[in-house]
Amino acid sequence: MAFTIAIDGPAAAGKGTISKAIARELGFAHLDTGLIYRAVGAKVLAGSDPLKAANSLSAEDLEADNLRTPEVAQAASKAAVIAEVRAALVQFQRSFARRAGGAVLDGRDIGTVICPEAEVKLFVTASAEVRAQRRHAELTEKGHALSFDEVLADVKARDDRDMSRAEAPLKPAEDAVLIDTSDLAIDEAITAALQVIHAAR
Ligand code: C5P
Repeated sequence: MAFTIAIDGPAAAGKGTISKAIARELGFAHLDTGLIYRAVGAKVLAGSDPLKAANSLSAEDLEADNLRTPEVAQAASKAAVIAEVRAALVQFQRSFARRAGGAVLDGRDIGTVICPEAEVKLFVTASAEVRAQRRHAELTEKGHALSFDEVLADVKARDDRDMSRAEAPLKPAEDAVLIDTSDLAIDEAITAALQVIHAAR
C-alpha cells in the first residue's frame, strides 16, 4: 500500500535527520530530494548545462562525494530556480512517493507541488541562527574551515532564493503540520513527527 510522508523546510532545520529516523521506524523508503538538486548543481559546477544535467542524472551522480559542500548547495539552489530543471525531476519523485510499502520524501516543495495528495505533510523549521549553528558544527567536523558568519550568510542566501522563486517556492502546504526544532532535541523532534504520523494512519 502507498503512503506518502512529505517533509519540507529550509536548509538545516532537521528534515534529513527526522526523515531518516521516521523511515527506519516505519520501514518506509526515504528520498532526500535535495540530493537530486545537489547532483544537478555539482554537474553545473563541472561545466554542464543545468537542463542537460537534470535530464541525464544517474544513480551514481547521487553518490558523488562532493554533494554536501556549501558550493554545491549554492549551485543546487541556483539550478532549482529554473522551471524546466524542476519539471525534469518531477516524475521520478512522484513515482518514488507512490511506491508500495510507503515513502518519506524531504525537500522544499514535496507537500505543495510533488505530492499535494500526501497522507502526511510536515513543515520542519528553526531559526536561521540555530540552523547555521548546526550546519557550522557539521561542516567543521568534516574539516571545512568556514566561520559561523559565512555559514549563516550561506543559509540566509539559500532561504531567500528558495522562498522567493516563482516556481515551487519554499512554503508550508496549507494542511502541513509545523514543527519548530529551534528548542527541540533530535529525539523530541522525531517523537513530535511520529505523533502526527500515527494520528493519520
Ligand atoms: O535540502 P538541501 O539543502 O540538500 O537542498 C539543496 C538545494 O536544492 C536547496 O537550497 C533548494 O534550492 C533545492 N531543492 C529544491 N527542491 C527540493 C529540494 C531541494 O529546490 N525539493
